Amino acid sequence: MSGPLRVLPLGGLGEIGKNMTVVEYEGRIVVVDVGLRFPTAEMLGIDLVLPDFSYLRERAEDIEAIVITHGHEDHIGALPWVLRELGEDKIPAVYGGALTMAMARSKLDEHKLKATPLEALADGDTVDLGPFGLELIHMTHSIPDCSAVALTTELGTMLITGDYKFDQTPVDGKPADVSRLAELGREGLLLLCGDSTNADRPGFSPSESGVGPHLEDVFARCEGRIVVTSFASNIHRVQQVTDAAAALGRKVALVGRSMRKNVNIGRQLGHIDVPEGLLVPPREIDDFPDHKLVIISTGSQGEPLSALRRMAHRDHPQVQLHDGDTVVFSATPIPGNERAVNETVDRLYHIGCDVITAADAPVHASGHGYAEEIKLMLNLVKPRYVMPFHGDHKRIHLHAKLAEAVGVAPEAIFKGENGLPLEIDERGASFGSKEQSGMIFVDGVDIGDPADVALRDRRMLSGDGIFIVVATVSEQDGESVVPPEVIFRGVPFEADGKLLKQIRGAVEASLDRAAADEIREIDLLQQVLHDDLAKFVYDKLRRRPMVLPVVVEV
Ligand SMILES: [Zn+2]
Ligand SMILES: [Zn+2]
Repeated sequence: MSGPLRVLPLGGLGEIGKNMTVVEYEGRIVVVDVGLRFPTAEMLGIDLVLPDFSYLRERAEDIEAIVITHGHEDHIGALPWVLRELGEDKIPAVYGGALTMAMARSKLDEHKLKATPLEALADGDTVDLGPFGLELIHMTHSIPDCSAVALTTELGTMLITGDYKFDQTPVDGKPADVSRLAELGREGLLLLCGDSTNADRPGFSPSESGVGPHLEDVFARCEGRIVVTSFASNIHRVQQVTDAAAALGRKVALVGRSMRKNVNIGRQLGHIDVPEGLLVPPREIDDFPDHKLVIISTGSQGEPLSALRRMAHRDHPQVQLHDGDTVVFSATPIPGNERAVNETVDRLYHIGCDVITAADAPVHASGHGYAEEIKLMLNLVKPRYVMPFHGDHKRIHLHAKLAEAVGVAPEAIFKGENGLPLEIDERGASFGSKEQSGMIFVDGVDIGDPADVALRDRRMLSGDGIFIVVATVSEQDGESVVPPEVIFRGVPFEADGKLLKQIRGAVEASLDRAAADEIREIDLLQQVLHDDLAKFVYDKLRRRPMVLPVVVEV
């Protein structure tokens, strides 16, 4: 037997979001989840945050497969960027449940990455991936088609739980496959990497199916129009909202691009069942009296460009909120989003709406198991080693305490961090030496509406100013022919000679890299320059000025 088995988290530890784990054995790699994170308020002008996956770029040839536990953005969102970076001829197969793969397909289509092989697996299917055996185990969460990932090597089996709760009465009637988990425990599980999100909440999480009746109670008391906001991917929640609306004789309008998209995919795959004639298009909202309508909207996290946020700013093309409307937050803010949510709520009150949140009525159930469920998982799979996943340092610590409480030896529990690989062989387990990890920022992609882009640009300009970089490259080989020009305006820091010199150096380095990669097209070149420089300036100054690269060919 050889080894070691290396488990390298590139995201999701010490933070909530951008989950990505590299599992390595015999020089071969399986990547579990490729997630992203939404920016916090101080990351001005940034649309998305990805894990730094330089490690994968260097090892592209060794990747057997990418496996995705479920369709949430913090698990699937970085897929287009990762695939593009790996290079067209090195794109590995991507595995996951049917809904997860349908969501991946729609994402990849938007990014024009049509050739990627996506393999939908049913629960219990097993696949050989080089030195790994892969099995997906059905779990319950706040999106259908959610799986834990078991990877077996000669050393034993490891389990990455993905996000889960033990919902005994899920809306689709398919509880987690506890008997398979117990079997893994009986066979002897080598390593458990488990969700820590709610390690700080005592007891058991409430069942999703309990939310529906409470929504109906709340709706029954509303005289005017009702707007419900929840995660667009929470298809079972959308089902329960439409059921409650139907029961009270109200029509339903879906507002927000991702809401419409996910409900479509969910309907095609049979995860959501909406009676004929219940849905009305957003443009017909004004044709129905207030008491006959429920609007389901994106924006439960106060996202800047979401439908609800625009309604709250009186800036939504189809929905003008007014006195007498009730807005129901059927979600709680993800840590870091509280400020944006509070601001949205306050604006809604200003307009004259009534607002109901999960603090006022049980209109939300978390998709992540509480402390007792984390203990149940530990007791079912009886792992030799435990590495808590998916949580900030506090929750990882609390998860470790829960593992101790059910009898896992403290020295078998590894409180990891991004970039720190756990290495396991026959003799034992220990952390290896740190690999590169961190954040990559993405901006300007996936924003459809020109007005949104203008808004973003103005926000960036007012905050951190602008850098204009003029690079002159040779038409033949793309090499820089004269030193790049750097112009700046409104930057709230000292752009001295030294900094400008460094920026010129970064421009040259970026151009060299692009030339080496044979990137010639001006648009692509400007994109590369923009990304490299934005990262460079941010690393140096923790600022996000607008970066405007201009490439001139001579
Ligand atoms: Zn999730
Ligand atoms: Zn997650």
